[in-house]
Amino acid sequence: MSSTPLLLPTSLKPAASLPEQGAYRVYMETFGCQMNEYDTELVRSIMKARGFHFTPIDEEADVILFNTCAIRENAHNRLYGHLAKYKARKKERGLVIGVLGCMAQNLKQELLDSRSWIDVLAGPDAYRKLPDLLTDALEHQHRGLAVDLSEYETYAQIVPDRAGGINGWIAVMRGCDNFCSFCVVPYTRGRERSRDPEGILEEAKRLVSQGVRQITLLGQNVNSYRSGSCDFAQLLVAVADVPGLQRVRFTSPHPKDFPPSLLEAVAQHPIICNQIHLPLQSANDRMLERMGRGYTRREYLKLVDAIQEKGPIVLTTDLICGFCGETDEEFQETYDLVKEMKYQAAFTFKYSERKHTIAARKYADDIPEEVKGFRTNEIIELQKEISLQKNQDLIGSQVEVMIEGNAKKSDQQWMGHTEHNVTVVWSKNDHPGLPGDLVSISIQDATPSTLYGTADS
Ligand code: SF4
Repeated sequence: MSSTPLLLPTSLKPAASLPEQGAYRVYMETFGCQMNEYDTELVRSIMKARGFHFTPIDEEADVILFNTCAIRENAHNRLYGHLAKYKARKKERGLVIGVLGCMAQNLKQELLDSRSWIDVLAGPDAYRKLPDLLTDALEHQHRGLAVDLSEYETYAQIVPDRAGGINGWIAVMRGCDNFCSFCVVPYTRGRERSRDPEGILEEAKRLVSQGVRQITLLGQNVNSYRSGSCDFAQLLVAVADVPGLQRVRFTSPHPKDFPPSLLEAVAQHPIICNQIHLPLQSANDRMLERMGRGYTRREYLKLVDAIQEKGPIVLTTDLICGFCGETDEEFQETYDLVKEMKYQAAFTFKYSERKHTIAARKYADDIPEEVKGFRTNEIIELQKEISLQKNQDLIGSQVEVMIEGNAKKSDQQWMGHTEHNVTVVWSKNDHPGLPGDLVSISIQDATPSTLYGTADS
């Protein structure tokens, strides 16, 4: 444990304090969403520019970093488990341990008080300070804290350090102003800020030159993107027009302000995938009102009708079970609507209260854990049946799939996704192909999550 005082804020020091040779080695793990994966690429870039090296082997690292997620309880528990593991190792050989991201931002005091072996905490807007914070911790045993939220930071000039592959993602904006009552993101990532379209297009072109064939544009609510006169639909089309790209996706649009122009872009542009993630959260109006979602069940369904009128656009969603005060009947409304909607996938979570949110201040978290668990499982099981049925309906048909890489279970098989984002696995013997190629696959078998087939020659 360091007995030196907390640095608030961190003083900036010259990079020259790092050793010329044998620079510090960093092992980094990422929890949570694609935005966090993207932030990890930014952190790698910022740190490599200051002479740090990254290693995939934690035993040989001088620095252990966790880029964390604060959205759900299980993400917290996973981090605490990992921290306990490295506490012992730190005692043996003086590791520096840093916690980054949303948990660092939201639970700074709790983490500092309860886990004295954490050396550095840095929130999502403070990554430029990391090299200095870590150098101070490594060389002077200073504990460092940088959790100021910024109104301007978009890391626009930082070129993310990617691991490679044909999939790339670009954060087009940061933060969120929506303040859904259950959500901690506005407190951990701050106010909405959009990047300028020129920088985003430059990044898209650079990704293509690195071999990327599919780009996903990221934002907490992409509908809020605005830079000058450019809105998200215009940006999406401009990215999709970048030569060399095969597919463009985006996540997430908010149902409360989904613009017709965005729907038009999805329906019209040949490489914007016909799949929209449209988080419902609950189908009951009282719950939606308590959640502060800004739409009613009727308005959501009206939007769904408008989407379906445009053609075969597949929908996926997010759901919360057991939100404050949710009755059996209110839950049943959600269950029944999921049955009716037949989403391709529904990411279903048990409500867990997050510190500092509106719901934590305003409503009692009064649904017993076993009831929350029961409701969550009910929907998960229902959705499994729906996904299985939808996938089985594809048996005997041909789907276009982009080769993304080796299948998880065998390097003799390829894995890719359909335009609707369903995973497909097939034997490499069927067709030579290369990652990034679009191939036609005849579907022969299906599970709720995966299609299996053979490549048509
Ligand atoms: S739109 Fe709502 S759920 Fe999404 S990040 Fe913003 S506050 Fe959270």
